[in-house]
Amino acid sequence: MTKWPQPLLAAFRSAEHIVALTGAGISAESGIPTFRDAQTGLWAKFRPEELATPEAFARNPGRVWAWYTWRRSLIEQAKPNPAHKALAAMERLAPKFTLLTQNIDGLHQMAGSQQVIELHGNIRRTICAENRHAVEKWEPVPEGEAPRCPICGSPLRPDVVWFGEALPADAPEAAYAASRNADVMLVVGTSAMMQPTAMLPVLAAEHGAYLVEINPQETALTEFMDAVLKGPAGKILPELVRAVWGEEIRDA
Ligand code: NAD
Repeated sequence: MTKWPQPLLAAFRSAEHIVALTGAGISAESGIPTFRDAQTGLWAKFRPEELATPEAFARNPGRVWAWYTWRRSLIEQAKPNPAHKALAAMERLAPKFTLLTQNIDGLHQMAGSQQVIELHGNIRRTICAENRHAVEKWEPVPEGEAPRCPICGSPLRPDVVWFGEALPADAPEAAYAASRNADVMLVVGTSAMMQPTAMLPVLAAEHGAYLVEINPQETALTEFMDAVLKGPAGKILPELVRAVWGEEIRDA
């Protein structure tokens, strides 16, 4: 049972606006590897930075497509865990709640979160490389190739943000606005290495937000936090919801 610092409970109880910023770690307990964990098995010899880039796709679309096919199959088998459910409950319980996620897995929505700002897109959607046509069905192709857009013929790719690409339209502005307006910002399961996302907690703190990190490891942001709850999000977030609002999160 976590022993809660009084200032943390007071910050949550008096907050008009709670903002959560989540990363791959919140889905680790759902069985979806973080980038670091994903460097095992079949894909151990590639670094994500060598696959999740426009250059990698231009060089070898079939290989990048195969990597995402593997990742999509893991994500399609996964279910939201108690951490996702706790954040969905917070959206109901807090006066105002904004969820910003770097995840591409859609598990927040499956857990019941209504308003999710996806900063890095969603792997469940497919688009074409040249014109970003949204595509739901495509002709099968031999292994090692990427399928083609039925409208323009360019290779298909997941609708996610790759290293070096811009964030989806409106997402950064919405994220900055929420961060400037936050009374509490919860930073969960992100190594906070990616800009501009990593600066959001700093922006929130500059505007007076109380910063809380939930992560089993230290991150680049740990030193800026008002409270650090060290451990797995699937355990800590439900305990936090119980401590602040008295609501039980069921894992069913
Ligand atoms: P990251 O892989 O860089 O860092 C993951 C963080 O989660 C680490 O700090 C780790 O200590 C922490 N963590 C691990 N298990 C945890 C747990 N049970 N509870 C709480 N924290 C835990 O992830 P990132 O910062 O999100 O950045 C990587 C990029 O990878 C993002 O752009 C994201 O889109 C993408 N990505 C997404 C998914 C997904 O959608 N599930 C999976 C892998 C990578």
